[in-house]
Amino acid sequence: MKKNILNAGLGLGCAITTLLCACTNTNPDDKKVNGKAKDSLLTYVAQRLPIYERVRLTTNLNELTVSERKVLPLLIQAAKIMDELYWKQVYPQRDSLLNQVRDEKTRDFIMINYGPWDRLNGDKPFVAGIGPKPDGGTFYPANMTKEALEKSDVKDKHGLYSVIRMEKGKLISVPYHVIFAEELQKASSLLKQAALLTDDPAFKKYLNLRADALVTDNYAPSDNAWLDMKTNGLDVIIGAIENYEDKLFNSRAAFESYVLVKDKVWSKRLAKYVAMLPELQRNLPVEASYKKEVPGTDSELNAYDVVYYAGDCNAGSKTIAVNLPNDELIQKEKGTRRSQLKNAMKAKFDKILVPIAKELIDAEQQQYIKFDAFFANVMFHEVAHGLGIKNTINGKGTVRSALKEQNSWLEEGKADILGLYMVAGLLKKGELNGDIKDYYTTFMAGLLRSVRFGASEAHGKANMQCFNFFKEKGAFTRNANGTYRVNFEKTESAMNELSSFILKLQGNGDKAAVENAQKQRGIIEPELQKDLDRLSKKGIPVDLVFEQGVDVLGMK
Ligand code: ZN
Repeated sequence: MKKNILNAGLGLGCAITTLLCACTNTNPDDKKVNGKAKDSLLTYVAQRLPIYERVRLTTNLNELTVSERKVLPLLIQAAKIMDELYWKQVYPQRDSLLNQVRDEKTRDFIMINYGPWDRLNGDKPFVAGIGPKPDGGTFYPANMTKEALEKSDVKDKHGLYSVIRMEKGKLISVPYHVIFAEELQKASSLLKQAALLTDDPAFKKYLNLRADALVTDNYAPSDNAWLDMKTNGLDVIIGAIENYEDKLFNSRAAFESYVLVKDKVWSKRLAKYVAMLPELQRNLPVEASYKKEVPGTDSELNAYDVVYYAGDCNAGSKTIAVNLPNDELIQKEKGTRRSQLKNAMKAKFDKILVPIAKELIDAEQQQYIKFDAFFANVMFHEVAHGLGIKNTINGKGTVRSALKEQNSWLEEGKADILGLYMVAGLLKKGELNGDIKDYYTTFMAGLLRSVRFGASEAHGKANMQCFNFFKEKGAFTRNANGTYRVNFEKTESAMNELSSFILKLQGNGDKAAVENAQKQRGIIEPELQKDLDRLSKKGIPVDLVFEQGVDVLGMK
């Protein structure tokens, strides 16, 4: 792996070179490395580091069975391998970079960001001598143009589980199970050991198949087995999964892992909504042709406490809900599993959302900020990923392949707004408790939380789109004192219009129109920026960093 990366002469390789010597590729700023530029970067990091609040990830380990206590540490060890693989994908020169950097805060910030680019600020480089983050990461050769790949005869052009390399002047693809063979073998054997120890037959089957998937890149059998699990008390999401990190094409998957302990009480509460998916699909506020597909109902909706995050899901912003698998064929046949990560969610609500609402939500509407509403909004975001359509209505193939790098943010935007749409619908039907004002106001506070993610991230882009759309439609107004007041009636109509707008963009597979929407509304206007700046001045964190694994690995 290392050899390939270095030989490929990637942009990332160049970034570290510029740090060590005056490489020919240095940008003009690098000449100021020892002067003011470096000081200002240290100041920058000192200001940015506190945006992450440290939280210890815990769960009630006393509730684990004897075999679960043996299995859990093995899962964490396998997860740690995904962490190493993710580093190799996004910044293989980690160790030499850390050796070069003396400032402890900068080192911490590198670890949080999995590299020298500030993920929550447009990937701004924060280490002297580091150039812009390459869109293609190490998934593609440096300086490879999109056209070059499109024109090549590489069979696996947009494959999830391979890297593109240049060999003898020709582009080739190399599968993950070949390029990362050593690490994947290790992780695979840890999962096999865990399978031997587990009591739950379905979990055992999944662990064995997932162990095979890691060393073959054939994930479908394990994805199917994963969806079949119902009674497992533990879970592990592991492998090459999301494609957000490949900003060139949104094709190739990054390694990650979540090690999870099921919350059985909450899981029961969530189970009933899955059966309602087809009906919810039929009622979507859009023409019939855009809701023809029937969502699967064999899905699982569960709540978990996370005990370990690794790789992609641990980089920068922390995910609080997961909807997998991504395989559209499996989604269509069997649906998905939606995992609500409750302990992480509660931490974000307490440490981030409540303080933001205190600062930015109209004083009289503070009463509507509630954890149950936050939990529901996030939960239904995940459910909403299963709604809508996976294929364009005009023969352009899947929505994902038609929209390419524009797909991720739009899909997140869809899930946000359809999630809220479902909450409103279920409340009206009496299937959900509470006051719509709680859900709308907490959603607004959630929007303000998420726009802070900035433009480099799919969820941030999606939320900016929604914020600006809502603003145009009068769903909220800004008070003179810089607080936001929700207009409940107009929120409802804005929500319906935005749902329809996004569903059509997806169904039409019209990439240019999506790019246009992004250009038009994917922006933070100065007024909003000023309000967001107040949050930073007050020291309200943007995201979390987890102290994790300590309890489990020390468990007797
Ligand atoms: Zn999502």
